Amino acid sequence: MSEKVVNFMEICVGDALLPLMRGMNVCTCELCQNDVKAFALNLLPPKYFVTPRGMLYTKIPLLEHQFNVDVMSAIMKGIEVVSGKMRHEGNDL
Ligand SMILES: [Zn+2]
Repeated sequence: MSEKVVNFMEICVGDALLPLMRGMNVCTCELCQNDVKAFALNLLPPKYFVTPRGMLYTKIPLLEHQFNVDVMSAIMKGIEVVSGKMRHEGNDL
């Protein structure tokens, strides 16, 4: 197992995405999730780090209040934009 370069923002957005989308009653199919995720990540500055072997990302000391607020508001904006133009087709949701 080797070290990996990881975008911490992507992990945070990925974690917060689904609960927020569910809370806002928008479609949570894979396409919509990806659209919201991509939108949010484009708004947020990437935070890359190298994972030492076996390190848990939850130990990265980046979870400050302002950081969370930024992640949340980027996702909310993504949900607003995506829910206005859902592009899923043939989806039975
Ligand atoms: Zn959808």
